[in-house]
Amino acid sequence: MEEYLNDAQTDDVNFLERPIIKEYYELLTDIGVIDHLKSLNREIRDFKSLLVRGLEIFNRDSIDDIMSATVHQISDQFLPSFIAFLWKPIQNREDITIRAYKNYKPVDIDLHVDCITPFEAFFKKYPKPINFELLAFQLGNDEAVKPYLELNTEIAVPILGPFGLYGIILIGPKTYKEGYSREELFFFQQLMCFVSQAIKNLLHYDHSLRDVKTGLYNHGFFITRLNEEAYRTRRSTHPSSIIVIDVDKFKTFNDTYGHLAGDKVLEMLAHVIKKNVREDDIPSRFGGEEFTVLLPNTDDSTAWNIAERLRIEAAEMKVPWSDPLPQVTISVGIYTFDHKTPTDVSNIIRRADEALYISKRKGRNRCTTWDPTKKETADKTQSQPYIPIVEML
Ligand code: GH3
Ligand code: MG
Ligand code: MG
Repeated sequence: MEEYLNDAQTDDVNFLERPIIKEYYELLTDIGVIDHLKSLNREIRDFKSLLVRGLEIFNRDSIDDIMSATVHQISDQFLPSFIAFLWKPIQNREDITIRAYKNYKPVDIDLHVDCITPFEAFFKKYPKPINFELLAFQLGNDEAVKPYLELNTEIAVPILGPFGLYGIILIGPKTYKEGYSREELFFFQQLMCFVSQAIKNLLHYDHSLRDVKTGLYNHGFFITRLNEEAYRTRRSTHPSSIIVIDVDKFKTFNDTYGHLAGDKVLEMLAHVIKKNVREDDIPSRFGGEEFTVLLPNTDDSTAWNIAERLRIEAAEMKVPWSDPLPQVTISVGIYTFDHKTPTDVSNIIRRADEALYISKRKGRNRCTTWDPTKKETADKTQSQPYIPIVEML
């Protein structure tokens, strides 16, 4: 007996090779212990592999990377006819981003949906991957499920978080075989829990950098990026610029047309700003009716052109509202900094603000670049109002 115990304590001896197991092997087989052990070992192997796959997905730091890692992980096991990811990039907004993959490659798919709200209550009650036909039956909302059924969606996986339903992952039928087996569905269910958590984490991170009302970056993130850019500029010959924007006579606008109409204006203006800047720029809501854009690697004349484009498009903006709204204009200040100019953040912002102040003083609806040749702030370049300002009541 003792030798058996000693044997049992030797970790590196294969359990099934131990003399005591060999001695009772037939009995253990008859009563099902050996089969059970083998099946437990298989399960452990599968869970280990799942964990490795999950970590591989968790370690990605963009949604695009998560999506392509997921597509590869799934396609290693079986090839679905498509995988599509739908999500709300901005919290509290219904805008939906859709990305789809076929044969490992990103593709456009014929899915036109502008919100995922009809699925929210269902997924809150049933927060798991589900067969789409079953979901459609349970939901009983033909309009909402129609585009997904037309796409031949077989499985839907929710991405849920404290703010509700953030997105849905859709999987099409298998390309080559009949249906998904129980094991495949189980693997899938587990893997997709990692995927939806990983996407949720990144969305939370992204939301924490953004202003809720406009979806632009928030003040804190702008300052962080400005600090980084100022630091970088000190060691580089490439200048960078900032633009500060302030809505003209906005108090009067609010007092006349109401705060909600004012909010709509800010939303539309944010849209104009976002659409006119590059991917690497940092369009932000600085606070209230003030916006800033950090333009890395951008000289003064390029910054000027961007600022002018924003000013002109803001003045032409049509704000959808129940009553006709008057034209809204913005005043803009621009400051370009390089390794020869002071590049601490407070100086950069102060100089852009001084240029903005000149735009205001000279009559609003114009851009001003801070002029380094004058001691005090001055209007090196000033745009003339493109469209006459409509007098507010
Ligand atoms: P100026 O041309 O000199 O900038 O005049 P102004 O009226 O825009 O400037 P002021 O600083 O007096 O007023 C800013 C206004 O912006 C007051 C405030 O009610 C409004 N505002 C700030 N944040 C918001 C917001 O989130 N929504 C709305 N609707 N209004 C806002
Ligand atoms: Mg202001
Ligand atoms: Mg203002």
